[in-house]
Amino acid sequence: MFVSLWRLTPNCSIMDENKNMSRREFLRRMGIGTGSAMAIMALEPLNLIAKEKPLKPVENRMTYRVQHGSGEQISLLGFGMMRLPNNQEEVNKLVDYAIEHGVNYFDTAPMYMGGQSEVLMGNALSRHPRNKYYVATKMSNMGQNQWSLEASKRMYETSRQKLKVDVIDYYLLHGIGGGMNTLKGRFLDNGVLDFLLAERKAGRIKHLGFSYHGDVRDFDWLLDHNDEYHWDFVQIQMNFLDWRHASMRGGRRSDADAEYLYNKCDKLGIQCVVMEPLRGGTFGRMAQEFTDKLKAVHPNDSSARWAFRWVGSYTNILTALSGMNRMDHLEENVKTFSPLDPCTDAENNLLAEIADQMSGFPNIPCTTCSYCMPCPYGVDIPTNFATYNDAVNKHILPLPDKSATGYAAAVKSFQDAYKKALPDKKKWAEACEDCEECLSKCPQQIRIPNQMARIVETLRKA
Ligand code: SF4
Ligand code: SF4
Repeated sequence: MFVSLWRLTPNCSIMDENKNMSRREFLRRMGIGTGSAMAIMALEPLNLIAKEKPLKPVENRMTYRVQHGSGEQISLLGFGMMRLPNNQEEVNKLVDYAIEHGVNYFDTAPMYMGGQSEVLMGNALSRHPRNKYYVATKMSNMGQNQWSLEASKRMYETSRQKLKVDVIDYYLLHGIGGGMNTLKGRFLDNGVLDFLLAERKAGRIKHLGFSYHGDVRDFDWLLDHNDEYHWDFVQIQMNFLDWRHASMRGGRRSDADAEYLYNKCDKLGIQCVVMEPLRGGTFGRMAQEFTDKLKAVHPNDSSARWAFRWVGSYTNILTALSGMNRMDHLEENVKTFSPLDPCTDAENNLLAEIADQMSGFPNIPCTTCSYCMPCPYGVDIPTNFATYNDAVNKHILPLPDKSATGYAAAVKSFQDAYKKALPDKKKWAEACEDCEECLSKCPQQIRIPNQMARIVETLRKA
């Protein structure tokens, strides 16, 4: 059996890393018992030559994790399709490159790009043999007008049509964390969860899970009822900053650190899919003193590579999603995971030290996901917050005392950067009317109008 498994996955980096491993240890690290090995033998090799769309053979050294229940081999790098180029040709190129280099997990949602993401992804993936990719999408019934069973079923069926699949491999209750009343309204009292459980039983959903943001009581409740629901996976926000500093993020006691979320899933034997491993680009824009520390250890490594290596080092991670809308990012990420080089203890300690220091910075914890958009009054919320955070990272903000040297220069510098980032005045923070429409949409629980007021106040300090 063991030999057969090797033959089935000749280019899989799990094998490359463990040439001298015992059979028992090999199966343990693959996440399966010896009794499950037969199931793996039935898998198609991942590097089959595509029938519909022949790909040129490339060396595939991608690291894979094994899904406990099915034995599916999932690429540790997952393709997040929240923001894609709105051009089918370009998306096709990205998807072709990803599949060619061993990426096989593709994640979308009905609400991404106003529904266009599912269309682009479905068109691009359906050009490949079905055994080359796993599709993940979600029940994004966020608005109260979508809470009925009929509306939710329509959303689910539309996803299958747009994605051009009969079976959804990974299906998620999207964005759990709005509080128990929302959980009941969206999934429990209306029969939506019962419907999805029945779909899993019927085989039209292969794996059922949920993605979590926000109120940890919802997360705990769903996992505490795992005997009833048997979650196949849980999607959490996890990165080296949120590991121990997420609970301060929204200033709400009910937020939880990634360490808590991960450990709770791990204890229950539920694998995690990671979102925001780069915290919405935060690590690419962090203060110079932090990048200097990383460069001192690995001069040629980007902060993204560090962050991916950190998250991939955790063995209960099934896949880490990265939103890749540029070919150079995709290429770099594929390289990082082909194969993954896990962080050493010293590297982990360095990242923990940097996270401690970063958490002391007065950044607005925005990941620029744009869930809050559009604002009915025209405010460009993510750009406002990104510009503010950039000034914090460059030590322009918080402003020094009015009497201190450099005060006027700091104000001017922030004002100039702000005008450059937002040349259209209609998008400025001052246009915020405090209508609160954006509040419930923000997965990071940011008090958006309060933060807009903070920006307005800072800009006025002349
Ligand atoms: S609270 Fe302000 S930023 Fe949010 S939607 Fe209303 S006007 Fe826009
Ligand atoms: S404010 Fe919240 S919803 Fe809006 S872009 Fe930032 S993190 Fe996303």
